[in-house]
Amino acid sequence: MTRKPLMAGNWKMNLDHFEATSLVQKLAWALADADYDSEKSECVVLTPFTDIRSVQTLIESDKLPLGFGAQDVSAHDSGAYTGEVSATMLQKLNCSYVTVGHSERREYHAETDEIVNAKSRKVIEAGMTPIVCVGEGLDIRKEGRQVEYTVAQVEGAFAGWSAEEVAQVVVAYEPVWAIGTGEVATPEDAQEVCAAIRASLGSSFGADVADTVRVLYGGSVKASNVKEIMAQPDVDGALVGGASLKAEDFTPIVTFY
Ligand code: PEP
Repeated sequence: MTRKPLMAGNWKMNLDHFEATSLVQKLAWALADADYDSEKSECVVLTPFTDIRSVQTLIESDKLPLGFGAQDVSAHDSGAYTGEVSATMLQKLNCSYVTVGHSERREYHAETDEIVNAKSRKVIEAGMTPIVCVGEGLDIRKEGRQVEYTVAQVEGAFAGWSAEEVAQVVVAYEPVWAIGTGEVATPEDAQEVCAAIRASLGSSFGADVADTVRVLYGGSVKASNVKEIMAQPDVDGALVGGASLKAEDFTPIVTFY
């Protein structure tokens, strides 16, 4: 099975809605200039909640070859959860993807594997795709326990799920020590853990699921290193933070092929 590469830009808490539409326009122009072929890679922007409506309007009215989504979601359907945004609300804005369990949410908002599991399920139930983030910190990496740690996060994220449900997710392997630091895992480091994630999905949910699910790498991906990372057989795309905030930086990543 060929898995279409997914290049997803995680804008984090950057860009108001004016800046967001400006970036989307510039990105669309830059991709057109670079002869971007949406058959060869899928390009998605994951924006702050407040940008989604403006980005949706622009992408849909101009039929731009871009997907969009959110960076978090509530684990609840509705009700007294002040400040939260439900999966159904995001689906009604036509989001296709939602990041769940980013390391910044795990660290600053105490998100556990159980919360990641519950949120990801809400995303699936609403007909969208969760991009489930996993990855070890520097202490775990120094102890050489990156595979067991990350695989345990994957097992926790999908505990109690059916193979049909898991087949619909994207997993992003993001070693925490490589996020926003300029430190990049070597292509071999990325391959080692991405392959272990795929093997774990295979043993829990079957070979078809392992073959279908896209496993992304994230952590200081840029134009200068994207090709060697994408050359790894178990890396199916990239989750990109800093380099997704400028069209001229993100375009060569999206058109890495
Ligand atoms: C991220 O935010 O998920 C990320 C990978 O950031 P950066 O590319 O800046 O390391």
